[in-house]
Amino acid sequence: GSTIGILGGGQLGRMLAVAAAQLGYRCHIYAPDTDSVAADVSAAFTCAKDDDLDALGQFADSCDVVTFEFENVPVGPLHAIENRAPLHPPIGALDIAQNRVAEKTYARDQGGTTAPFAEVTDLASLEQALDETGCPAILKTVRMGYDGKGQARIKSADNLAKHWDTVGQQHSIAEGFVTFSHEFSVILVRGQDGEIRFWDTPHNVHENGILAHSLAPAPPEILAQEAPARELAARMAEAMQYVGVLTCEFFATADGPIFNEMAPRVHNSGHWTIEGAVTSQFENHIRAICGLPLGDTGLAATRVEMHNLIGKQADDWSGLLADPANHLHLYGKGETRPGRKMGHVTKLHF
Ligand code: ATP
Ligand code: MG
Ligand code: MG
Repeated sequence: GSTIGILGGGQLGRMLAVAAAQLGYRCHIYAPDTDSVAADVSAAFTCAKDDDLDALGQFADSCDVVTFEFENVPVGPLHAIENRAPLHPPIGALDIAQNRVAEKTYARDQGGTTAPFAEVTDLASLEQALDETGCPAILKTVRMGYDGKGQARIKSADNLAKHWDTVGQQHSIAEGFVTFSHEFSVILVRGQDGEIRFWDTPHNVHENGILAHSLAPAPPEILAQEAPARELAARMAEAMQYVGVLTCEFFATADGPIFNEMAPRVHNSGHWTIEGAVTSQFENHIRAICGLPLGDTGLAATRVEMHNLIGKQADDWSGLLADPANHLHLYGKGETRPGRKMGHVTKLHF
């Protein structure tokens, strides 16, 4: 059978490898860390620094197609593997998504609306940026942030040095604080022939900057903004010549959908699709990168809830299985740490 290479060894890679196995593919995981939870379920595993050109080249040679589950793979070295195995989604999409300034600029150029934002490179430019964004604002590192990490909320223009320290004095973006009624994501898959399919739009609830719950179908306030949000996401996917699953996060506001960020990969807000949709985001990503026809993205229940299992002390989630409507996913991460995503549970309602 064919081998799919996955760059990154986290839970997204693990769930991709499970979906790939069902379709008869073997997976080769490439990750810098030895305790990768994707390696547990894959056929082959290479542990090497993600900018090790020799190791990356050998990895690519062992694969029929390469994808990624981690959006912070260094882009430079990827160009070296491009000629050795097909890579989907395209490097260009990764490049944009890795940089919050480039990402929001791209969304605007494609006709989307974002929060007012300005680039911040030092304390003086932070002060200037607030003229653009107003207060309150959020300061975020331009690169590498996830789960709300590397962010500072700015309530007033006093004590900006403290906020600049909070983001580690790194290249950052200041964004105006968006007043929203709901958060949601557009999750689409684009095939090699350009066909696009959307899953039902989940309503996403964040707690402390981390996704806590995704609920589908979304309430009317979100559905009223679904069409323009989907249109923007599809336009961006087409412009990037995208292949695979693409997720765009939005705020539902009185002025319509505000684009926040994109993930050029399967996404936590799409985990409910494993049981809650006819074809999951993981299976359709594999289908897309392998050039297979896309599966039905329709709902497989009347209502679906996904709850993240975020680490606290001494957790035992097996009790969730007492409810037969629950589907439990544990990522095999071993050590529970506060704030760490250990698994999720999906509950279907018929
Ligand atoms: P993710 O884990 O989704 O990749 P992230 O670290 O990239 O998270 P964001 O998604 O930009 O960060 O922000 C995390 C959350 O913080 C958002 O889902 C939202 O709840 C809140 N937030 C971020 N930016 C803004 C904003 N400009 N206005 C209001 N709330 C915001
Ligand atoms: Mg993000
Ligand atoms: Mg986000």
